[in-house]
Amino acid sequence: MYYILKGEPTPIQFLKGVGPARAKAFHKIEIFSDVDLLFYFPRSYINRTSILTIKQIYAKLLKDNFFIQDFDNSNVKEEVTLLCKVIDKKLKSSRGNKKFLVVTIKDFSGDTANFVYWQYPEYYDKIFERGRYYIAYGSPELDYHNELTFHHPEVEKFDSFEEIELQKGTTLPIYPMSSSLKTAKINNKVLRKIIKDCLPQTLLKVEDFLPDKIILEYGFLNIQDALRNIHFPTNVEEVEKIKNKFKFEEAFLYEFLLIHHRNNFQEQWVAPIFDKNNGFLKKFHSTLPFELTNDQKKVITQIFTDLKSGKPMNRLLQGDVGSGKTIVAVFSMLLAKINGYQSAIMAPTEILAEQHYLNITNLLYDYPISIELITGGQPARERKLISEKIRTGAVDIIVGTHALFEGGIEFNKLGLVIIDEQHRFGVAQRSKLREIARKSLPEKYVPHFLVMSATPIPRTLAMTLYGDLDVSTIKELPKGRKPIVTKIVFEENLEEMYNFIRQQLRAGNQAYFVYPLIEKSEKLEVKSAIEHWEILQKNIFPEFSCGLLHGRMKSIEKESVMKDFKAGKYNILVSTTVIEVGIDVPNANIIVIENSERFGLSQLHQLRGRVGRGSSKSYCFLVVNNKYNFNKTNSLFADTNERSVLARLKAMEQTTDGFVIAEIDLKLRGPGDILGVQQSGLPPFKFINLATDGELISKAREIANTIKKTDPNFRFYPKIKVILEKFSKEKKYFGIG
Ligand code: ADP
Ligand code: MG
Repeated sequence: MYYILKGEPTPIQFLKGVGPARAKAFHKIEIFSDVDLLFYFPRSYINRTSILTIKQIYAKLLKDNFFIQDFDNSNVKEEVTLLCKVIDKKLKSSRGNKKFLVVTIKDFSGDTANFVYWQYPEYYDKIFERGRYYIAYGSPELDYHNELTFHHPEVEKFDSFEEIELQKGTTLPIYPMSSSLKTAKINNKVLRKIIKDCLPQTLLKVEDFLPDKIILEYGFLNIQDALRNIHFPTNVEEVEKIKNKFKFEEAFLYEFLLIHHRNNFQEQWVAPIFDKNNGFLKKFHSTLPFELTNDQKKVITQIFTDLKSGKPMNRLLQGDVGSGKTIVAVFSMLLAKINGYQSAIMAPTEILAEQHYLNITNLLYDYPISIELITGGQPARERKLISEKIRTGAVDIIVGTHALFEGGIEFNKLGLVIIDEQHRFGVAQRSKLREIARKSLPEKYVPHFLVMSATPIPRTLAMTLYGDLDVSTIKELPKGRKPIVTKIVFEENLEEMYNFIRQQLRAGNQAYFVYPLIEKSEKLEVKSAIEHWEILQKNIFPEFSCGLLHGRMKSIEKESVMKDFKAGKYNILVSTTVIEVGIDVPNANIIVIENSERFGLSQLHQLRGRVGRGSSKSYCFLVVNNKYNFNKTNSLFADTNERSVLARLKAMEQTTDGFVIAEIDLKLRGPGDILGVQQSGLPPFKFINLATDGELISKAREIANTIKKTDPNFRFYPKIKVILEKFSKEKKYFGIG
């Protein structure tokens, strides 16, 4: 945590009200001492004004429902607090013979609602007693009978003591409850007491690391007041301000470490200098079948500047699907070649690697440049031959999948490494490739690194996640691209859609049909590619030909299907999400996504990017079950999940700008879900919310930069030095170092 210790922490076990058994429960959530406990913050607060009646909750839900199109409203799952009396409870069995508990409650005005528990129903059965009062917090929903329901609300018995506290106008903290705490019989009431008891002593043990100057300038509270108020605020409004202090500190330290890390890296390593640039690139440029967009030219210049500098390039190239990143990669690889270096481009799937290989080979057909492909599906003998050529330096450009670093390949002066669709790779995979490349270079040298991504990352995320990368962005799409018309299609309207598609196919266009599953599943009510490929071919489009593509096919089969589709042998390609990344067939102008509710926004956007690449107007149809047609089914019945599905699909209808979509996705799902925390190396922030704290992060970054520049030895800011030393002792922080 972000403080300087000035007193000895007390092990949690010895705090009043804890003891050995409860201490274990605290250890499970990484709380080992009283000081740790002070940094276990409430997730919300209750006071007299925040408790709602059932009538008020109904009113709120109805109002929110009217805002269903408002995908900017991130409070899809807002929590409410309710005081209630249990009037009945029943353990029931579902059709699948799964037990669940239904608790019927009443509030003071006599209205009723239900609590439903699917997990540990027996455990909860014991918690509830008929006739007793409880305080509950959770997200309300309306069930199919239009009754107010809470799924798994958190509850506590409510006693007269707390009632008196609330009457007096006290604000009570609600802490996040882990299952380990619950099993050790630590509920909110208990936790409040433990914290209240140790607070005065423990506050004396911590000290701010931020310089007083900054604390004053930003009007932050000092650490003692901040901690006291976050647990027991006198008014809830001030809590946000206090949280900002901790967020700021977190961002500041994170940014500081990033800058530090980056400086170190650049001091330790050099990279090859690509300063030769003969007439060759000019000639290549002039023979391209299209004019580069201004953004493409701009990013090529940025990349070339890096490549000439002798400092290792570490750059993210982001650009929406179809913005033309590949050609930028090709220019960079050619520059490497001219300067006598190999380059490699890695793609996440074999299909994509093969496509890059074909594209690049075609583009460079007239030039004496050797390009090879490395994938896992290759016969061993072929691989061996190619590896040998790579080792001796007879190959200039190597295209591949992760087989590039798994096959024991020895490169020869690999000076530039490019990773396409980089979010598909883990941090570890990237650094492995870097390591292998390093071995092919002289000592102290590392290759230049270019990572490319078509998943536009919201500005804050990019800044945080790739704080040690320079970012180049292509916003402009190539000329002549027509916008993609996107429509939600409810299943009852499929026939109409089929008719439209028939017309389009007759006019010579092609279509994709995408399904979430490969094969029919017994368990899930989700459509599958194999099953529907048959139905589409036999019953719906008998006069057209349908190809089938999915991840379980051999790579030669996949390749030949793709080739045939590209060559126009199939009118329709039925597929799973294997076509999600990079596939490029300009003549395909329709994409139908079945069970579109099962895909995240960014994934839908990626899939949609398969069309809109040619000159005809393109269409994306998002097929969903009729139950999402709230205009017809009555939106009152929609649960939060259903509502957020519709919000996603509506967002798709309303914009094709990948950056806007990414922002919405970030709000709807949060950063962890978008990137996959493990995969992305997303920093494990405790306080920062990447979806909303962009401005604060920028500010912190600015200040960190200034301090690093003006006072590198911390003469004026000795406390920052202390906390950084504490960090380095505790190994990695935020995954840096
Ligand atoms: P992505 O950025 O999604 O990887 P690609 O590099 O695959 O995009 O490019 C998509 C398509 O656009 C390709 O067919 C490519 O040849 C074409 N393309 C790239 N740049 C231009 C341009 N400046 N003008 C016209 N077409 C272009
Ligand atoms: Mg691409």
